[in-house]
Amino acid sequence: MNVRKFFLNELFLKQDGRCNLCFLNFKKEKLIVDHIKAKCLGGIDKLENLQLLCFKCHDEYKTPKDMGELKNRRISVT
Ligand SMILES: [Zn+2]
Repeated sequence: MNVRKFFLNELFLKQDGRCNLCFLNFKKEKLIVDHIKAKCLGGIDKLENLQLLCFKCHDEYKTPKDMGELKNRRISVT
């Protein structure tokens, strides 16, 4: 079992099968292991720094070029 799969299983139990942003339930294969603090910013491969997001939230939250479309949501860009 690879590391990502291990984290996926752990986080899936921890988050009760929910996306950490929209809190909807998803199947395991519909969730992405995401670094809360990006690896390039010094984030580590530890459970405390990882969360599961659904594809939609991952794309919306993590894709800066889409930020303009998020102005009505809680993420504000100045
Ligand atoms: Zn979500």
